[in-house]
Amino acid sequence: MNGYLIFILALLIFNWLLSLIVETLNVRNVSTKIPEEFDEIYDDEKYAKSQRYLKDNTRFDQVQANIMLPLTIAFILLGGFSWINNIAKSTSDHMILQGLVFGGILMVISQIVGLPFSIYSTFVIEEKYGFNKTTTKTFIVDIFKGLLLTALLGAPIFALILWIFSSVTNAWLWAWGSLSIIQLIILFIAPVAILPLFNKFTPLEDGELRTAIEEFSKKQNFTLSGIFKIDGSKRSTKSNAYFTGFGNTKRIALFDTLIENHSTEELIGVLAHEIGHCKKGHIKQTIVISLISTLLMFFILSLFITQSELYAAFGIEGTPLYAGLIFFGFLYAPINMILGLLGTILSRKHEFEADAFAAETTKAPGEMIKALKKLSADNLSNLTPHPMKVFLEYSHPPVLDRIKALRAFERN
Ligand SMILES: [Zn+2]
Repeated sequence: MNGYLIFILALLIFNWLLSLIVETLNVRNVSTKIPEEFDEIYDDEKYAKSQRYLKDNTRFDQVQANIMLPLTIAFILLGGFSWINNIAKSTSDHMILQGLVFGGILMVISQIVGLPFSIYSTFVIEEKYGFNKTTTKTFIVDIFKGLLLTALLGAPIFALILWIFSSVTNAWLWAWGSLSIIQLIILFIAPVAILPLFNKFTPLEDGELRTAIEEFSKKQNFTLSGIFKIDGSKRSTKSNAYFTGFGNTKRIALFDTLIENHSTEELIGVLAHEIGHCKKGHIKQTIVISLISTLLMFFILSLFITQSELYAAFGIEGTPLYAGLIFFGFLYAPINMILGLLGTILSRKHEFEADAFAAETTKAPGEMIKALKKLSADNLSNLTPHPMKVFLEYSHPPVLDRIKALRAFERN
């Protein structure tokens, strides 16, 4: 049997098993007693509801994994890739066009397979807990917008990478350089050209909140080119806030749901946290790390892309580059996972630093704590995740850890 095939199948099974173990530990880690910090926020009924939400989601994820694992393995072993490759080859003699057909069919298949899960998650689970605001129309339109975006951005990028690997020496360097430039451009244009496709951004109206935000950012010497309210309520009652853009195009977007549920002081805490990410250089660090890891990926890709054994593992004769790029994704999964772990460790550290920045600059850690509590309760977040779950997946520290760190500022 092909060594690559054994390795990839073992990886798929390992990942499934790991997630089974972690999810089981995580669900068992719930406490029936409300953590002290949340005494005033939760009553027994609402706390029990948050635990049912966790259990429903965990069960759902597990069912999805239990279906996807055999489906993926069957697709590989029964020659699914070779079948798609034959269709791609029959449509054109040109490698890049074949690649676009190959990638396009794979994308449509994965959309179709994923659809029932995403329908169930949105219209059954989220609905049951009162989060869902997505209408059938928004749901369908979102899918088509996503596909359109992939066609307009993803297809040309895929074609470019194929062209580079088929015609340039040191292709991995060139591919990395071009992709990096494209990524940076996308980061710049996303706030004005991509995000508005999915949400409506309205400048925050004049008033107490806007004045407070302007005053605070001015005090921090932080130039905001825009303060926006976005219609998060179009899809869900869950709330959020984020920064987009760079340099002089930095804009803050606050979900309408966030504005509704929080006081001005709490919102300033949230804003201060986001400004903290910029001031502490987190955003730049993240971009640099992502550039370096992409470089590593392309280098390793260049070592495997010509190995006919890798293609044979998926039942394909020859070495059609477009298929190789997809197959490499399976092979690269463990390195990707390790890099992802390092990324979340760093991200959790950044979160503590941004919280500290917010506490120091607003001098109101209590407001930040109130905001965190409300956010957790409104989103029915798991207050007591298992440490292994946190280590493997959490980009933010568990909320009780963040509150504990903020309490230290209160005492000073
Ligand atoms: Zn943050």
